[in-house]
Amino acid sequence: MNEEDLKREICLVVRQLFDRGLIFPHGGNVSARLPGSGEYWITPSSVYKGRIQPQDLVKMSLEGEVLEAAEGRKPSIEHPMHQAIYKRRSDVNAVVHTHNPAVTGLMAAGVDLQPVTVEAGLVLRKVRMVPFALPGSRELAEKAGELAKGETSALLLQGHGVVGLGKSLIEAMAVVETLEGLALTQFFALLAARRIPTVSEEALKDFEGEE
Ligand SMILES: [Zn+2]
Repeated sequence: MNEEDLKREICLVVRQLFDRGLIFPHGGNVSARLPGSGEYWITPSSVYKGRIQPQDLVKMSLEGEVLEAAEGRKPSIEHPMHQAIYKRRSDVNAVVHTHNPAVTGLMAAGVDLQPVTVEAGLVLRKVRMVPFALPGSRELAEKAGELAKGETSALLLQGHGVVGLGKSLIEAMAVVETLEGLALTQFFALLAARRIPTVSEEALKDFEGEE
């Protein structure tokens, strides 16, 4: 894979996550690097995510400098978080940040993701919760970077969204998609576990006819 392939794949991933409703017109960002590289490509800020093209992407160094960008293109405001993760994880080549409605909704409601299936049990072992910090802040980057150490494959950003880490873009994308599926499963289980009041057979028996 060369840099042009990598940029095209970043755009494909953004498009797929946008179509799935995990990335929003102005929310969510994706980056990737060639394995072992000290430079990475990231999606720009203030560009409609459903129409991102390779020429919109911005090339960054791990020191936070913009190395390559088309006229008027700025890196996502979350680039310090991507940078903090790459610096601490030489095995990570892709970082996918999404605003998953189900995962974020459960977090907002104070519901922890639970191992409701075998898959969930396995996935959740490598998930870490990041306490709230403002999007784009140094504080968020530092907290996320520290919690990304070790075996972490996903970060749950309180009051904000999800970050998937992977050796490749597909792996990082699969993490955020899987977490959304698990959150939906848990949400359905929570809903179904409640008893919905229904009309008793007895009441129906006494009902004579039409109103
Ligand atoms: Zn975000």
